[in-house]
Amino acid sequence: MSEQINAFKMAQTQFDHVARMLNLDPQAAAMLRWPTREFRFQIPVKMDDGSIRVFFGYRVQHSDVRGPSKGGIRFHPSETLDTVRALAMWMTWKTAVADIPLGGGKGGVAVDSASLSIGEQERLCRGWIQQIYRNIGPRQDVPAPDVGTNPRMMGWMMDEYSKLVGEYTPGVITGKPVGGGGSLGRTEATGFGVVYNIREAMKHLDINPQNAIAAIQGFGNVAQYAAIGFINLGGKVACVSYWDRDDQKAYTVSHEDGIDPLFLQSITDVYGTIDKDKARDSGYKIEDSMAWISKEADVLIPAALEGQINAETVEQISARVKIVAEGANGPTTPEADAALQERGIFNIPDFLCNAGGVTVSYFESVQNDMNFYWSREEVLSKLDDKMTKAFRDVLDMALREKAYMRDAAYMVAIDKVVKAMELRGWL
Ligand code: NAD
Repeated sequence: MSEQINAFKMAQTQFDHVARMLNLDPQAAAMLRWPTREFRFQIPVKMDDGSIRVFFGYRVQHSDVRGPSKGGIRFHPSETLDTVRALAMWMTWKTAVADIPLGGGKGGVAVDSASLSIGEQERLCRGWIQQIYRNIGPRQDVPAPDVGTNPRMMGWMMDEYSKLVGEYTPGVITGKPVGGGGSLGRTEATGFGVVYNIREAMKHLDINPQNAIAAIQGFGNVAQYAAIGFINLGGKVACVSYWDRDDQKAYTVSHEDGIDPLFLQSITDVYGTIDKDKARDSGYKIEDSMAWISKEADVLIPAALEGQINAETVEQISARVKIVAEGANGPTTPEADAALQERGIFNIPDFLCNAGGVTVSYFESVQNDMNFYWSREEVLSKLDDKMTKAFRDVLDMALREKAYMRDAAYMVAIDKVVKAMELRGWL
């Protein structure tokens, strides 16, 4: 998160804007502007050298009115309570727009996972659970992976929780490894979900995917599968970008014939860092961090962090761009959003565009509950149905209300959440 942008203020600004448009009941608005519950805790971890290092952990439950809170755990050095609050709030809208019976939550630790040994990572994950296990659970709040966390960590966390409560509880966390309670298709779910949304947007805008070019920011979980999915759709991916930990800066990696995501995956570590020397040796061009945004592309897919399309960078977007598909959470600041809207660029807002991950997380919980597991094809086909329906619902709202797609997505989501509040007698 860049320093100047406070993600929670951004999330509240977006909410307030649509609350005004909807003439939302002020009591409902008061309840939804802030998270229901917030936890901030210390996690003392014994490091490999024998010293104790204290980390700060967070869990924010924005809403559980439609079902247990749901949302990832992010390990990132600039994690703050406000970032977690924003992400928790966006999760409430995401589960509502995807129409899955869950609420919104998010967690985190201010840490660079890559700076820890595997043993230290495991102790940190177990420590996170020890501090919060009383306040999460399959019927309360179900975490999952996000930036800086992965299926292996989810496996440790599920194990720690199961030990603490005294029974095997795979449904406490999703994004677990396959074979350890995880669902097939979860790894590719968010990126493929982004592409199902793009496919539907292209149908609506009458764009032929065969001639389409995408430029992607990031090359982690979401970006990798968005790139693979976009190419499967028939398009070309001009570039991806990544954060280089050695140089402490980001780079854009491009190829004039389009990148080969499978090759790049083979030279990328688990943190989404590409080996730029190997890429250069194979004919790739390594450019400045933000070069991705000014590429001659039809579709931009920001899939790294918040606030990347802002008042400054939005000016660099080429005239060819027709769609911004928000793989990341909160990649566009309100000022940049206004500029996109003015330029008539079709936006697929984050909590619709990247809802594939939480949707398959939900499928994972369902499979855990049944103790019966579906094939990858079955999971991806159910995911496609859910994403297509969610996109259509938001597009219908946008056309009916002559609203910008982000506003329309908020309208669909807020309506579902407020209805649940009414049905439960909260209003
Ligand atoms: P990840 O940690 O796997 O990958 C992040 C990628 O972004 C890495 O390649 C990293 O090098 C790159 N990056 C970081 N800073 C950058 C910068 N300044 N410029 C360019 N690249 C940069 O994370 P992920 O799981 O792919 O998540 C990416 C985004 O998508 C986040 O906003 C996350 O909240 C959101 N998201 C993830 C999921 C999921 O299922 N993983 C679901 C929904 C939303």
